Amino acid sequence: MKIDILTIFPDFFRGPLDYGIVRRAREMGLVEINIHDLRAFTKDRHRTVDDRPFGGGEGMVLKPEPIFGCLESLGDVASREARLSPGAKQSVILLSAQGRRFDQTLAAELSALDRIVLICGRYEGVDERISEHLADREVSIGDYVLSGGELGAAVIVDAITRLIPGAVGNQASTRQESFTESSAGQAELVVDGPSSTCVSGGLLDYPHYTRPADFRGMVVPEVLMNGNHDQIRNWRRKTALAKTLRNRPDLLERVVLTAEDEELLNQIKLDQIKLAQSTTD
Ligand code: SAM
Repeated sequence: MKIDILTIFPDFFRGPLDYGIVRRAREMGLVEINIHDLRAFTKDRHRTVDDRPFGGGEGMVLKPEPIFGCLESLGDVASREARLSPGAKQSVILLSAQGRRFDQTLAAELSALDRIVLICGRYEGVDERISEHLADREVSIGDYVLSGGELGAAVIVDAITRLIPGAVGNQASTRQESFTESSAGQAELVVDGPSSTCVSGGLLDYPHYTRPADFRGMVVPEVLMNGNHDQIRNWRRKTALAKTLRNRPDLLERVVLTAEDEELLNQIKLDQIKLAQSTTD
């Protein structure tokens, strides 16, 4: 996969894309990331990238010329029309608080493309003609306003790179992670991995522990050390459901739960009622 990032702060990316899985994926040639300085595509001696908004109002707006010029200089980017057609393998994305919210489903969709261009806005945003005529989608990394698109671009690059086959040493581990929907859209148990693990099926991941088994009196749940794969898998599924119920109940409304999950959820709710009763007694 080839990723180009268009920004007025190219140095921003020194660091975030140079560690861990992204670094390894770059070194292995699984992903090629190029950073482009928008100021190199200005024509005046002050290298001006912004201007006041038509109609008045606060702040400055990123001008269209450097962004159009930079994208056109890349040469091998398909036309907007081609990128919007079904099965297209390229996308030009404008980072924007007003865009579709980035999530694991979109990360998986983007990780299957060959070519991605990320346009980072700054100031009050970019000239609207970028989203109308140049980008094929707008993406937000959350419902808050950042000072620029660079952090969002780094987030997107990280999330999609780890989904490229070969980027993560044990690819099966990405299937059990939080939010990852199984291909069947169900929370079924994984069949080709260790039998004590379960896919998240769109829920939050189950809790993980490592050595020491007793750290300052905080002990690892006994069930994880008894070697009984069925019991471990059952405990993991139950704790993943409990954590999702506690922290992200909205996810439970979106996934299709198995009969076993429903049974575990009932147990969790009963446990909660018993706990609440015991604390009021
Ligand atoms: N005036 C804009 C608004 O109210 O929606 C906010 C502009 S923001 C200060 C400047 C740039 O930061 C945006 O053009 C965009 O590229 C980036 N940005 C801000 N929040 C973002 C978010 N939640 N997700 C992705 N990019 C964001």
